[in-house]
Amino acid sequence: MYYSKLLIPTLKESPADAEVVSHKLMVRAGMIRQMAAGIYSILPLGLRVLRKVEQIIREEMNQIGGQEVFLPSVQPAELWAESGRWDFYGKELLRFKDRNDREFCYGPTHEEVITDIVRREVKSYRQLPITLYQIQTKFRDEVRPRFGIMRGREFTMKDAYSFHATEESTHETYSSMANAYSRIFKRCGLDFKMVEADSGTIGGNFSHEFVVLASSGEDCIGFCNSCDYASNLEKAETKTSPINTESPLPEDLNEVATPKKKSVEEVTQFLRVSPNTLIKTIIFETDQGLVAGLVRGDREVNPVKLKNLVGCEWLIPASENLIAKTTGLPCGYLGPVGIKLKVFADKEIPPMSNSIAGANKIDTHLTGIQFKRDLKVEKIGDIRSVNEGDPCPKCKSGKYKIKRGIEVGHIFILGKKYSESMQALYLDDQGKEKPMIMGCYGIGVGRTAAAAIEQNHDEQGIIWPISLAPFQAVILPVNFSDDAVHSAAKKIYKSLWELGVETLLDDRPDRLGVKFKDAELLGIPIQIIVGPKNLGDGKIEIKLRKTGESQLISFPEEIAYISTILSEL
Ligand code: ATP
Ligand code: MG
Repeated sequence: MYYSKLLIPTLKESPADAEVVSHKLMVRAGMIRQMAAGIYSILPLGLRVLRKVEQIIREEMNQIGGQEVFLPSVQPAELWAESGRWDFYGKELLRFKDRNDREFCYGPTHEEVITDIVRREVKSYRQLPITLYQIQTKFRDEVRPRFGIMRGREFTMKDAYSFHATEESTHETYSSMANAYSRIFKRCGLDFKMVEADSGTIGGNFSHEFVVLASSGEDCIGFCNSCDYASNLEKAETKTSPINTESPLPEDLNEVATPKKKSVEEVTQFLRVSPNTLIKTIIFETDQGLVAGLVRGDREVNPVKLKNLVGCEWLIPASENLIAKTTGLPCGYLGPVGIKLKVFADKEIPPMSNSIAGANKIDTHLTGIQFKRDLKVEKIGDIRSVNEGDPCPKCKSGKYKIKRGIEVGHIFILGKKYSESMQALYLDDQGKEKPMIMGCYGIGVGRTAAAAIEQNHDEQGIIWPISLAPFQAVILPVNFSDDAVHSAAKKIYKSLWELGVETLLDDRPDRLGVKFKDAELLGIPIQIIVGPKNLGDGKIEIKLRKTGESQLISFPEEIAYISTILSEL
């Protein structure tokens, strides 16, 4: 393709609201343009990249027996009422009415639609298992759309759903899906980890995320520096045998004055004890009312772990106002002894002795707390966040490392959540009706492309992995109006396309410097510089975007060498 004919509106400046490099570079490279918050137009160069991601996904989904479908994006409210999610999904669901006042939503995901199809069309165990997938536009009215197409409101997702008669078959598909996902992200040139994950609002109890390591990522993952254990921090387990922490203070319950000492640091310094002898009481608001979470003074409560232990639908930190209104106290003096809220303790709390905590009284703390004698708790569990350096829960000597990352894919075993509520039943070999077991599997197409940029860029611009590059080579004529250069450039262009190399010819009348800058920004892996001087010697220059290495090759004799370089990239 000729550059002058393509819509590649490159920009010198990044958009003011762009926080991450992929957003900046996608806009600057003329790949995307924002239409409204979180809603983007994808321009030709951007679409070439997204299509490459989609093609890789399609090949791998087909490879494991997935069948492609295309489901409606506009979905009737009745289906969502059947699964119970019409009321539950909240504001992320874009709802609207048609001319007859019937309620619809724009699909943020497709469990309801696919379950409806399968319950109508699949009746017998002989038709199972079945895996269906689509690549489609979703809409989620995200609270904070940002990072360009990485967290948009309208975005493209590959979503797959599998239906099974047995647990065994579900796990088989789950694991071939996990392998397919690994191949997809490897082929996209990404450095990623498959991590254990919380199953979130979709439900179910088995789930993994594929996380691309990047400092700009919104997620945090913990992984072992020795074995292959890796987990989302919302799920990251702590080692099972908690250490007994005992304060040097007397073992009898005793009120001590701690005037104006509120934080763990202030209180423990004042009492000359270590923070791990204090019980921290954190209040959360949930759909079941306020609850208190207890962790050691040197730990933090992980809200997702606590939510799972409480068994509530949602949980958020309670505001200071709400806490003050309910307990009549400012935060720093709350404690678990005698508190009139349901209390949930981390498993590190019971082995503590002579502990310290707020006395539920202003400017006062309690010392000498004994778990068994003084505390009444609803449940004990793993509710604390892991820290870098904590021991690995799976192996003997490993320690947690914590890194930020971008979730690009997510696989779940859904179990019978939808098949039971929506009556997706099949007849087993005894003629008995049973609910199907389901799995669901998503990949963000745009987010994957953006994540590739987060991992592959420099000051000048994008450095595309070859598999995602919008073009594999770009020809940069030093002066396109020079006859020899002009005809050589066209000849190279023709030969490369014949060799199957997707090539862009920068035929613009601009100076080489301008074309070079754009080539660097667009991140095309191979630059071919065609100038009168080298041509006079029968040579052209090949430069690699990634390393900046350049070499001269004979033209036309060695032109096929370019496809050899490509295959080695
Ligand atoms: P997140 O926690 O980032 O909101 P999610 O858990 O809601 O993601 P899923 O429902 O599992 O995401 O969706 C599957 C995939 O779709 C995600 O792994 C991600 O790659 C992509 N995705 C989800 N939300 C968005 C979004 N707002 N913009 C772009 N891609 C998204
Ligand atoms: Mg989400």
